[in-house]
Amino acid sequence: MLVDISRVLSGIEGEVSIRGWVHHKRSSGGILFLLVRDGTGIIQCTLRKDKAEVFEEIEKLPVESVVELRGVSKKDPRAIGGYEIAIEDIKTIHKAESGFPIAKKYHGPEFLLDHRHLWLRSEKMQAVLRIRAKLLEAARQWLTAHGYTEFQSPSLTQVACEGGATLFPVDYFGKRVYLTQSWQLYAEAAIASLGKIFTVAPSFRAERSRTRRHLTEFWHLEVEEPFCDLEKIMRVQEEFITHICHTLAKDMQPELKKLGREAGDLLKMKPPFPKITYDEAIEMLKKDGVKIEWGDSITWVVEKKLALKFDVPFFITHFPKEVKAFYHKPDPKDQRVTLSADMLAPEGYGEITGGGQRIHDYDELMKRIEEEKLDVKDYQWYVDLRKYGSVPHAGFGLGIERMVMWICKLKHIRDAIPFPRLINRVYP
Ligand code: ATP
Ligand code: MG
Repeated sequence: MLVDISRVLSGIEGEVSIRGWVHHKRSSGGILFLLVRDGTGIIQCTLRKDKAEVFEEIEKLPVESVVELRGVSKKDPRAIGGYEIAIEDIKTIHKAESGFPIAKKYHGPEFLLDHRHLWLRSEKMQAVLRIRAKLLEAARQWLTAHGYTEFQSPSLTQVACEGGATLFPVDYFGKRVYLTQSWQLYAEAAIASLGKIFTVAPSFRAERSRTRRHLTEFWHLEVEEPFCDLEKIMRVQEEFITHICHTLAKDMQPELKKLGREAGDLLKMKPPFPKITYDEAIEMLKKDGVKIEWGDSITWVVEKKLALKFDVPFFITHFPKEVKAFYHKPDPKDQRVTLSADMLAPEGYGEITGGGQRIHDYDELMKRIEEEKLDVKDYQWYVDLRKYGSVPHAGFGLGIERMVMWICKLKHIRDAIPFPRLINRVYP
């Protein structure tokens, strides 16, 4: 009976059959050592020379060929995964071409990006992608258990919600529309129908500068909640991020270890998270000799300096109106700033969520639209929402790749997503 390799590794001894890709192959002292990978795990299999009928064929088999084999599994602490299969019988399902481009040697990043369709099979990408999947599973689990309903908004939109500079135009039957930057405006319509909601969807931003932290297409987990203010939405984020980190620490230890992340780093997390205001952040940066003035946006280069001071996630709150989108609610105590908060990951990683309280008052929203010189006609339906049952509400957006990057200690965001879209790359 065919079984998954993961089942064998979880402790099956005796006769088993498996199938998968030949991940690696070497011979020593008349024995062939095959590492076989099936998507659930990798196991070492040995083939002795006395199996002459197949030995020669398998010895010549290029890596990444697919085999099906039957053998006897037993515990072996020397093998990766702790089990080894002594092959009784093996057949080739697909013989790969020789010269698999990814060799056991150093390849530059551009080479690996050009061969991403094959590099996905690497142990590094496997670990990252499994952690990414578990992160999303834990996120959905927490949100669903806490009463949030999943909701989808369109990807084709008519207007900007995060500023015009990063809009991607699309020709829509001769009319200009855009790829969405966020679900924000649609989410505010849906809360009056469903209450607390979330989405997991791609957002698109034509990021024109090359950074290690910006994709042009990223996965955005967004949450919106009625009857909610800035304080409450920060508490939601603290509980939510803590749950995800603790779940990963518990369930993904081998993968985390492979990437150099200690589970203990993630278990350290505990609400409440440290909070500093934008004003305090500017003062801290000035003290460190950074050239920055009140009102400037905190760029990712500068963010990094702040994020190196912390070993747990922290918030920066109350950003000036000028650096936040028009829908952020101005602080009634200080109209220059908004009731906003970004969460920054520690160890220099920087912003992973952006959010805060939204404007729920009709006149206040109209005033901000005018100040930002937006065409109110474009936002008519959105403004309408303030006429029919408008309540204080708040939300946030988490960049999935930003969080994966931090958890997996990646140097570049491109490795947090299977097929990255960057300013200079849409292939493969
Ligand atoms: P940044 O200042 O880093 O460009 P932002 O302020 O534009 O971020 P928001 O509009 O608040 O970001 O979006 C919410 C979250 O989405 C961010 O906190 C980040 O995690 C993620 N995000 C935003 N832009 C990108 C991008 N280009 N690539 C990957 N993730 C992104
Ligand atoms: Mg941005």
